[in-house]
Amino acid sequence: MSKLWLGCHIDMSSPHYLVGAVNTAISYGATTFMIYTGAPQNSIRKPIESMHIEEGVALLRQAGMDPKKIVVHAPYIINLGNTVKPDTFAIGIEFLIRELKRVDAMGFSMLVLHPGAHVGMGSQTALDQIVKGLDAVLSQDGTSVRIALETMAGKGTEVGITFEEIRYIIDHCAYPHRLGVCLDTCHISDAGYDVSDVDGILTSFDSIIGLDRLLVVHINDSKNPRGARKDRHENLGYGEIGFQTLSTFVHHPRLGEIPKILETPWVNDQPPYRQEIAMLQHNEWKEHWRDELEKTT
Ligand code: FE
Ligand code: FE
Ligand code: ZN
Repeated sequence: MSKLWLGCHIDMSSPHYLVGAVNTAISYGATTFMIYTGAPQNSIRKPIESMHIEEGVALLRQAGMDPKKIVVHAPYIINLGNTVKPDTFAIGIEFLIRELKRVDAMGFSMLVLHPGAHVGMGSQTALDQIVKGLDAVLSQDGTSVRIALETMAGKGTEVGITFEEIRYIIDHCAYPHRLGVCLDTCHISDAGYDVSDVDGILTSFDSIIGLDRLLVVHINDSKNPRGARKDRHENLGYGEIGFQTLSTFVHHPRLGEIPKILETPWVNDQPPYRQEIAMLQHNEWKEHWRDELEKTT
């Protein structure tokens, strides 16, 4: 049996940064984790010299984690699909070049990116703009870090909501070897896929994109039914997807080496990850597991 690479989104913040994030991951029983290099909502970034990277990487190795399985997520505000505001597109390119250099300098190898949104101009226009943006980024960053394009929920004018759209971007980019995919269970359900058919989803993904391109899976339940296009994550077993389907993704033999990352909401200002990770590790649902978090203040 191969090792389960299972973790969650962790806030990397002052003063301990990566060391703090690793210690938090260890306290949750995680074997990997996902960070943003700063706030998810903006592109203000501190120099990585202040982020205790070397110490953090040594600590995570000591804990049996693997830098190759650690995930970095780009901020939400990047929109390479924008053809309306040239500034947004240009800022996105510049930010991503610097972000890829940061990920590389940290010793990590993948960056999750929301492909973009068409802001009223239609999906095809945005997909072509994203290709242009990725080509600009990947011709200049000078690293071998891979960008994992995330499958989106279809909220607002998001693109990259079907496997075909993601495939289109990869096919038209001049640097396809630098591209991979992040599959988000909440998002594909919102986009209309029947997530309960895990084998069917993986077979379809394999034939349209290729499972060799799947770099990370986001494990989230959804507050809304299939096709809702809302993008509201829910705790395991409290949403429309349910614990068993999510656990099937986590333990699926075709996804053996791929890191699985929880992005489920905090409960009562407390992280739910220790409990969620334990349930997934043992593939065992604990009814009312959230009660304990809900009652403490
Ligand atoms: Fe995301
Ligand atoms: Fe996600
Ligand atoms: Zn989401």
